[in-house]
Amino acid sequence: MNDDLHFDTLAVRGGQHRTNEGEHAEPIFTTSSYVFASASEAAARFAGAAPGNIYSRFTNPTVRTFEERLAALEGGERCVATASGMAAILSTCVSLLQAGDHIVSSRAIFGSTVVLFDKYLSRLGIQVSYVDLTDLAAWEAAVRPETRLLFLETPSNPLTEVADIRALADLAHRHGAWLAVDNCFCTPALQRPLALGADLVIHSATKYIDGQGRCVGGAVVGPQDLVGEGVFGFIRTAGPSMSPFNAWVFLKGLETLRLRMQAHSANALALARWLEGHPEVARVHYPGLESHPQHDLARRQQDGFGGIVAFEVKGGREAAWRLIDTTRVFSITANLGDAKSTITHPASTTHGRMDPEARARAGITEGLVRLSVGLEDVADLQADLERGLRAKP
Ligand SMILES: *Cc1c(COP(=O)(O)O)cnc(C)c1O
Repeated sequence: MNDDLHFDTLAVRGGQHRTNEGEHAEPIFTTSSYVFASASEAAARFAGAAPGNIYSRFTNPTVRTFEERLAALEGGERCVATASGMAAILSTCVSLLQAGDHIVSSRAIFGSTVVLFDKYLSRLGIQVSYVDLTDLAAWEAAVRPETRLLFLETPSNPLTEVADIRALADLAHRHGAWLAVDNCFCTPALQRPLALGADLVIHSATKYIDGQGRCVGGAVVGPQDLVGEGVFGFIRTAGPSMSPFNAWVFLKGLETLRLRMQAHSANALALARWLEGHPEVARVHYPGLESHPQHDLARRQQDGFGGIVAFEVKGGREAAWRLIDTTRVFSITANLGDAKSTITHPASTTHGRMDPEARARAGITEGLVRLSVGLEDVADLQADLERGLRAKP
């Protein structure tokens, strides 16, 4: 069905296989196992000689609809859904790498991904080197003969730096490695890394794919051999599979994904422009601003600039905390990708365990505040921040 349909049609209809009941909306198949017509059919399915469901740790129709829809939106051959974004990253690494292999990763990645790499993959004999996301020469210099995977998020969290996906895919392929992009911040509505040469796309569906902060889930998208055999083989054996209920919530999220991402981006750009002119604000990080160092790259590579804005208030931690505590509309939480706007202080939360000097070098200053701009009226969001920025000690 997918060949000649456009993004918005695939987002609404991709992957649906209607049953004999003629249901219009996608059903939730809450079943752990499946029955066979006969002993010989059971035997054929277990032997892999006949297609069909066996057990929901392996396959489930609602989960498969989500996988087919997301694969179509990312332009990938195959998608495997996982219990969380972290399960997607773990399953990718464990299924495709082995002891002695090496990963080159951007330093600016999700905190739990760093812990997964440094504390757990290292124990399995997989080493990770970290480089600056935007420094191509550093990526090149970090590659070793045993490097199998390059890993990044773009735009980065919280400073919204943008990586050149095409250049890094070329670099990976010249060295016989794969490029995996965690596409959580942009989603396929704004950025399709596979079309730019990446081999694997990883998602935390928990964020914008759900979009309303309800469920935890993840996904890996890529070619049949890496994802359909490699990652799927691990998931069905080790078990970090997605629940059918969560898959159904994410399916509903995909139907409105592009509209929501455009609205998040429009609200974020309006706030970023206003913040950039504010006397209490020292600096704004948002790829949609002309002042952003990779603005031109972001324009070429993305269809929008996303909902994450970071900015530095004058007056350090005290002023940042005062701003956060004065807001009434923004939720004080480190989560992101929700219809509800959120505000957080990275230096004392998401990046609080970092060594203070390394944190300062990475640009996570004491005055830095991160917004995940939601879908409320932007005038109310602006008034909320204005109240916080004008608040007196
Ligand atoms: C949240 C997040 C993850 C982890 O996803 P979970 O669903 O929380 O396991 C990975 N990468 C990025 C960029 C994230 O924001």
